[in-house]
Amino acid sequence: MEELILVRYGEIALKGGNRAFFINQLVRNIRKALKGIEHRIIKDRGRILIEMQVQSGDTEEAVNRLKKVFGIVSLSRVIKVEKNLDTIKQRALAIVAEQQPATFKVESRRADKAFPVNSPEICRQVGAFILENCQGIRVDVHRPELLINIEIRDKAYIYMGMEQGSGGLPTGTSGKSILLLSGGIDSPVAGWMVAKRGVELEAIHFHSFPYTSERAKQKVIDLARVLAGYTGGIGLHMVSLTDIQSSINRHCPAEQSTILTRRFMMKIAGKIAEAEKALALITGESLGQVASQTIESIYVTDSCVDMPVFRPLLGMDKVEIINRARNIDTYELSILPYEDCCTLFLPPHPETRPRLEKILQSESHLEVRPLIEQAVETREVLSI
Ligand code: ATP
Ligand code: MG
Repeated sequence: MEELILVRYGEIALKGGNRAFFINQLVRNIRKALKGIEHRIIKDRGRILIEMQVQSGDTEEAVNRLKKVFGIVSLSRVIKVEKNLDTIKQRALAIVAEQQPATFKVESRRADKAFPVNSPEICRQVGAFILENCQGIRVDVHRPELLINIEIRDKAYIYMGMEQGSGGLPTGTSGKSILLLSGGIDSPVAGWMVAKRGVELEAIHFHSFPYTSERAKQKVIDLARVLAGYTGGIGLHMVSLTDIQSSINRHCPAEQSTILTRRFMMKIAGKIAEAEKALALITGESLGQVASQTIESIYVTDSCVDMPVFRPLLGMDKVEIINRARNIDTYELSILPYEDCCTLFLPPHPETRPRLEKILQSESHLEVRPLIEQAVETREVLSI
């Protein structure tokens, strides 16, 4: 007997000439996700099989890690046995004995037509054997608690149940983007959504040390680590905004400080994107959520960078964002109450309809370029 994990990928199978490229990347990402677990990957027409060491007890951990790998639509645990009806019956019974479902159903497919028993007959015989040997169990053909699937190929494959993967496209198949990662609820979700489409992430966090604490920094590192569980790794750039914020506070009207700070963030992110060969920025903005997220504010922040800015949460309500954050395991970290550089310097009445000319005028009182260069040069880069 051998134990395997069957990996199904949906969309990437449709990618015509690029198919091999997508599948090879998926295989690389699977290998990376399973680091430290002994396994062997087999590409098998339209799906991937992963052979596990049976005695290792690692299969559950492997399945849990693989559920996060983008590009995987669903997964099943599979047992591979000799093509012999008695062996198949015994194994199927063992699975039922282990899982103890109230109801079950057997399905079967005979890809190897040389096998002497046809599919309906396999189902009938295996089903009858289970009924004879398990007290109280029933067959339910519509909604079985346990679905046992038997496939006859080079060997007999018995698989039980199916678990959902994260879907999307394999990380590394769509280039790189820079995520502006705060410690809040929104930006980790925004990064996850873009990463799901195959994009490699690099993250930037702005802090105002010593006004923001080490704990606030650690929170962002922890959030980046959750995202890295999906993408296989993230570079995290820690950038100080302290000098920029004090300069803004000294020289510009208080109600403009939020929008001015956001423009600095975008420009710095744009510079780092260039250095990292990333082609787009990602933010967690949702239209109308706060003062800096009106259309006017977005217009004014966007006009200082010349690369696309992705805002995948733009049309989402807070409740929807929170649900997604819970699903991807960032919510509990995000709600930890540590201070953020933006809220720290939040003016009592932030401008909600900023005008570009006025903002540019205020910026002309600042040493914009040197401030940006200094922030970029003094950044700390962590590999998560
Ligand atoms: P979030 O929940 O992501 O913090 P938010 O609702 O608090 O978002 P804003 O404070 O207006 O909204 O920030 C909008 C976006 O700007 C964030 O989603 C994030 O992409 C970026 N951003 C804000 N603060 C920071 C920061 N300290 N470091 C990096 N990016 C930030
Ligand atoms: Mg925030």
